[in-house]
Amino acid sequence: MKEQFDTSNCFTIQGKLALPYSYFAGRVGSRFLIRIRDEKKIMGIRCNRCAKVYVPPRQTCDVCMEDIRDNWVDVASEGEVTNFTVVRYRDKHLPKDPPYVLAVIRLDGADTCLAHVVQGVDPAEVRAGLRVRAVFAPETTNTLLDIDHFEPV
Ligand SMILES: [Zn+2]
Repeated sequence: MKEQFDTSNCFTIQGKLALPYSYFAGRVGSRFLIRIRDEKKIMGIRCNRCAKVYVPPRQTCDVCMEDIRDNWVDVASEGEVTNFTVVRYRDKHLPKDPPYVLAVIRLDGADTCLAHVVQGVDPAEVRAGLRVRAVFAPETTNTLLDIDHFEPV
């Protein structure tokens, strides 16, 4: 046990975490993913009280606390990059080989944003405001990667 610890200082602690888990998409998340998988359409959920459209969809409006789970609306598969970073390291849990752009995208018709990969553009050329569209995956993974990536319009 003692050899697991760097005893040369009191500022660092060496360790490892293994964190296997199953995440349930839930009723709202599953419907969202199924529509992307089967129809190549992206849906959001609108709050009838404040009109905010959530993509990815959620069960409760975070402004009004209304139950909005049944207020499905279609949104565009096109939108704009609002923020981004360039991923430059490889990890088995990451969806693409580096370098790639991981962007925050607001789809037309939505008020909230979705994080996804942008390809087909030099990472140095990506800017907030870049118009992008979804490219759907030919094979399903039953995940948000059924949108394989977004590409510039
Ligand atoms: Zn609301």
